[in-house]
Parts: sequence; structure tokens; C-alpha cells
Amino acid sequence: MKITKVQIHPVAVKRRHRTVVGSGSGMEIPGADAAPTESEFAFLELETDEGISGVGEWSDLGQAFDPVAMQRQLEENLVGINPFDLEALFAHLQVDRSTCCAVDSALYDLMGRALEVPVYQLIGGRVRERVEVSWVVYIRQVKLISTEIQQMQEMGFNAFKLKVGADIGHDETCVRLIRQTAGPQAQIKLDASGVWSLEEAIAYIRRLEQYGLQGVESPVRGRCAADLARVREAVNTRIIEHVWDRWDYVLDLVHHQAVDIINLFPEGCGGIFRCKKVLAVAEAAGIEALLGSTVELGVGTAAQVHLGVSSPGITYPSDLIGPAMYQEDVIDPPFEYMNGGLAPRETPGLGVALDRAQLRRLKK
Ligand SMILES: [Mg+2]
Repeated sequence: MKITKVQIHPVAVKRRHRTVVGSGSGMEIPGADAAPTESEFAFLELETDEGISGVGEWSDLGQAFDPVAMQRQLEENLVGINPFDLEALFAHLQVDRSTCCAVDSALYDLMGRALEVPVYQLIGGRVRERVEVSWVVYIRQVKLISTEIQQMQEMGFNAFKLKVGADIGHDETCVRLIRQTAGPQAQIKLDASGVWSLEEAIAYIRRLEQYGLQGVESPVRGRCAADLARVREAVNTRIIEHVWDRWDYVLDLVHHQAVDIINLFPEGCGGIFRCKKVLAVAEAAGIEALLGSTVELGVGTAAQVHLGVSSPGITYPSDLIGPAMYQEDVIDPPFEYMNGGLAPRETPGLGVALDRAQLRRLKK
């Protein structure tokens, strides 16, 4: 089987509300009148000489994206290759991680469709029924968070990840509110988005851990494993850190005993194939993992779900909130949460189909 054609479909979709993460004291905290955040996406379709096609996603594009130039570049690199030749392709493909992830997803979709099995069967088989999801609560005014938590609990979510790193007083009010609203059984993680100094991280975590925290992500600025280790030593809360652009960062984290949990996701690492390699290092070191997110639509979420149900190390609730955070999706049918979790579809490949009418309507 050989790839014969590359197509790219850019779209834009609004989130349900304005989403901001911590950037320190004095940052603007969105209220009810803040316009919803709009995210740009692109979808990759690879066709083959056997009449099978596969899809991938560029999620929440943060930079200028030129679909014409990208199509040309991918045609030069992908037309004529066998979709099963992952090692050979990724050894030479000179693209950013986001593009690498889109290609990786489309190749896994193609392989699954060619063999008529769901992707999870290609990457280890199923070790759990579904991926548990922690609803991500962005920095917002307190009364909006109160309503949001109640709504998400009614949808079945019992795990939450609160973005902190605004004013510590606001952060504490929100953590206390989530604990009171969601109850003693709810799992609550914090994500400080790397905004605190070393001293602030230690002082603030000590102040907030009375509310019962499952972990704190990116507590300290600079992505320095030695600093993370100092924070971990000083507090009684588990430490979580992202592994993405640098694979070797996972080795730094291991050497410094800096974390309890890593946060990784296909868009960050460059696809399912590379995530599995990072997970192998974490497993060898006895470090657990969760799936982070750049907040994907249906195709990207599908790749995440297949990775999540096939990876024993992903033991913490993951951040796969896209299907409930965007006002619309481009797959038909869209994903639905079951008791705060997502399960893969049993149809071949990623198990999702692009909705052509939605692609036209949401075209960027
Ligand atoms: Mg994070």
C-alpha cells in the first residue's frame, strides 16, 4: 500500500467560554461577558492506492498555518511511502511536532483501516475500557467556576484540573470552592502553568494542599528538573510535569527524581508512536502518566483515546475535554462522555469519520 494523495482542511471553532491559564498576579480574570476563545484547526487526509484513506488533526494551531505550503511539503515527503514504515519515515521527516502528530494519526488510521482493526489493537491492545477524564477548569471569575463545576458533575465528571497561577487569593478561593462543590471524593489537580518561582511554588502548594490535591502540574517556572525536585522534596503533594518538545527531558526528570507523574500527549510529543517511546522510559523509572491536551477536536481526541486505553502507565485522569469544550466538532457522530470518561470506537482505524458538511461550514 502506498500513499497517493494529501489533502488539508483548515477550520475554526469556538470554545464554550474564554479560556486563560496562569500568568501571574494582575492578570485579567475573564467574566461572563468575555468573548469565547476561537481555535484554529486543520485536518489531514491521506489517500492510498488501495482506496483507503486516513485522517489526522492539527489541534488549536497557535501559529500561522499555510495549508498550501504544508500540502506541498507533505506531498514531497509522503507520496509513495508505505504507511506501515513509521520508523523510517519519522527518522527523516523534518516537520514540527504538531505536523508530525497529524501525520502519525493519519498513518495509524490508515493501518487500522487496512487491517480492519481499531488503532488500539495495533499499539498494545486494550488494558482498560475507557480513559478517565479530568474536566479542566480555566481561570475565571469565581461564580462562573461554581456553575461550571455543578454542570460538569451533572455530566458525570468526578475529576477536575484547576488552572492556577493568577493571584494566590483567587486560586485558593477557587480550590476551596471546587472541593466544597464537588465533594470529598472528587479528584482535584492543580496546574500552575510554570508561573511560580521556586519559593512561591513551595509556599503556595503548602497553603493549598489542605484541600486534598491529587497532584500539582508545572509548579515552577523554567522547566528545570532540579527545581522541580526541590519542590517535590518540600511538599506532600505529587508533582506532575509536561514532557513534549525534548524527549530527553523525561531523562532529566528521572535522574533528578523530580516528578511522580508525567503529562504527555500526541500533539506535544509528535504522535502516538513517539508517546509510546516516552511512556516506555517512564514505565522503566516507575513514573505514572496522564494524557495532557492542547484541547483537540474529535480526530485528535480519538488518537488520544486509543493511546490511553492501550497504555498501562496512564493511571491518572487525563485532560481530554475537547468534545465538551468546543461548540462544534467535525466528526460524525461526535464523542460522548460516559461517567466522565471516553472509550474508543470499535470500528477500524481511529474509528472517526469527517463530516464534510461541517468541514465546509467551519472552513477557515
Ligand atoms: Mg499543563
